[in-house]
Amino acid sequence: MKGQDPGTIAYPAHGNLYLNITNRCTCNCIFCIKNYGDGVYGYNLVLTREPRVSEVIEALGNYDLSGFNEVVFTGLGEPLTRLDDVLEITQWLKARGVLVRIDTIGHAKLQFPGRDVAHELAKAGVDEISISLNTHDEATYERLVQPRLYKNTYGSMKDFARDIVNEGIKLRFTVLDLPGVDIKQCRRISEDIGAEFKIRGYGGPAVSE
Ligand code: SF4
Repeated sequence: MKGQDPGTIAYPAHGNLYLNITNRCTCNCIFCIKNYGDGVYGYNLVLTREPRVSEVIEALGNYDLSGFNEVVFTGLGEPLTRLDDVLEITQWLKARGVLVRIDTIGHAKLQFPGRDVAHELAKAGVDEISISLNTHDEATYERLVQPRLYKNTYGSMKDFARDIVNEGIKLRFTVLDLPGVDIKQCRRISEDIGAEFKIRGYGGPAVSE
């Protein structure tokens, strides 16, 4: 009998190698892939269980890492939910001269109060953080991102972004061009904080304003 697909841990695309280490998340975005699919680029990202650090490193070992632009923590969940494991894997990658990016919703200050997450990421050698800014204001954020675990996530996310810039880590904000999102204002917020700005494509079902 064929076993259940355990889900993909590492998958190449666009010249990068992407890591999917958790399906846990602090929110329930109405545009999340998990609402209409199980992954991207034909990879199943639904994990039957979270891989141990040793299993992530084993998955990385299947690739010639020098052939990728960067290794990116992303996937179907919030990577920083596993902060200590992200730090350990990042150190392993940096010892091999690999560029490391983390795609995050940016709620780390709420997830880990009392820890200086931006500083820890800088110390581990993270090269770039990409935060999903998503919206131009809190009300729209609450409606589209639907934070599940914490209050005041929009403000905290922007504070985390400032921490990242202060630590000297390259920062990128991303938004989806969805109804009700003021892209111009998002770009202004991004410039004020000192981030690069990227508008990402959205291929899911229609989102109403
Ligand atoms: S932050 Fe990402 S993984 Fe989490 S619900 Fe939103 S889109 Fe999905």
